[in-house]
Amino acid sequence: MALIVQKYGGTSVANPDRIRNLARRVARYKAMGHQIVVVVSAMSGETNRLISLAKEIMPEPDPRELDVMVSTGEQVTIGMTALALMELGIKARSYTGAQVRILTDDAFTKARILSIDEHNIKKDLDSGHVVVVAGFQGVDANGNITTLGRGGSDTTGVALAAALKADECQIYTDVDGVYTTDPRVVPEARRLDKITFEEMLELASQGSKVLQIRSVEFAGKYKVKLRVLSSFEDEGDGTLITFEEEENMEQPVISGIAFNRDEAKITVLGVPDTPGIAYQILGPIADANVDVDMIIQNTGADGTTDFTFTVHKNEMNKALSILRDKVQGNIKAREIVGDDKVAKVAIVGVGMKSHVGVASKMFRTLAEEGINIQMISTSEIKIAVVIDEKYMELAVRVLHKAFELEAA
Ligand code: ADP
Ligand code: ASP
Ligand code: MG
Repeated sequence: MALIVQKYGGTSVANPDRIRNLARRVARYKAMGHQIVVVVSAMSGETNRLISLAKEIMPEPDPRELDVMVSTGEQVTIGMTALALMELGIKARSYTGAQVRILTDDAFTKARILSIDEHNIKKDLDSGHVVVVAGFQGVDANGNITTLGRGGSDTTGVALAAALKADECQIYTDVDGVYTTDPRVVPEARRLDKITFEEMLELASQGSKVLQIRSVEFAGKYKVKLRVLSSFEDEGDGTLITFEEEENMEQPVISGIAFNRDEAKITVLGVPDTPGIAYQILGPIADANVDVDMIIQNTGADGTTDFTFTVHKNEMNKALSILRDKVQGNIKAREIVGDDKVAKVAIVGVGMKSHVGVASKMFRTLAEEGINIQMISTSEIKIAVVIDEKYMELAVRVLHKAFELEAA
């Protein structure tokens, strides 16, 4: 007997038929003698619909109230899922994040899980129930509803698997595993049987939305056995996230390509080049809980510096007002500009560690298409570039080809 957490995304619970289908799979696992915890997302499109409703009332919605609204999507699907299981004669109970007590911090719309009370879930499992938990939501220490950021149900699934010491966490979605890149953009993309945790972490952090980054972090921290599978097929082993690099395996140089349209670029122009500038610019941004991704600074011949960094598109206006109101005067910057028409494309692979010339091949490939690189950032297993968003798909396609990632 194993304890398995199965997480189902929005398309997998998009209508009553799909929920019935999910229930049948759970029934099969139950019949094999396993204990099952199901985590569900909202029906596909529902979270977007709720966000638009909020924006119709307040263009930049108050984050606490937005969480009150968007968390309702998952409350509907847990109830439906429990009903579908009951209809199959399976004992089932649903729980919201607050009912479980998935305790988070109070960073509304992007809260982090602090702890999970697994007590009630364990009791229900031991009495033969399937437990159905709402993904994406939690509760802060003051009882406020919080949400975990877009795609956050993955994190609920993996965090529950960690808290319950589950044998496996299965992420059921609308693709049958992790591919070399998003198969919607590159139809020739190839499914990977396995991917190392390190690579998955980079792909997720660079924007592959097949797994939310925090879910991968949780899997790494608690060594959760994590697998991505199709909810539309009963066969197939999907993609396993592995924790050991296999030594004798012929590593490809690049394992995958990620991209992200969600970032915006902010440039602070003409800052006197003195110590402490980076701190003066980024300190107030961090204090406002705005995450910064890439950063570059270059000093011109006139001794002034241009300082550029990227933030989530949703937070560009907030970051710009902080800089213009609190920073520009102090640091005597000439101008502060924002650009949300950018995209980030990243190639990822542990094979990069032992190969030279990967970066130059990437830059040559983009140059041949006339794609200008605006920013570059690298790690041991990743090279990411910021480019004009209108070239993003082209860049992904030509890089996929250049690094020979297509199906054999
Ligand atoms: P869910 O609603 O099940 O959580 P998501 O839409 O969040 O599903 O994530 C699945 C989607 O991720 C796929 O439909 C695919 O378009 C996209 N995706 C992006 N990168 C990859 C990748 N490398 N491999 C597989 N899918 C990817
Ligand atoms: N429903 C939430 C979203 O659309 C969470 C999730 O699907 O993982 O972002
Ligand atoms: Mg998702």
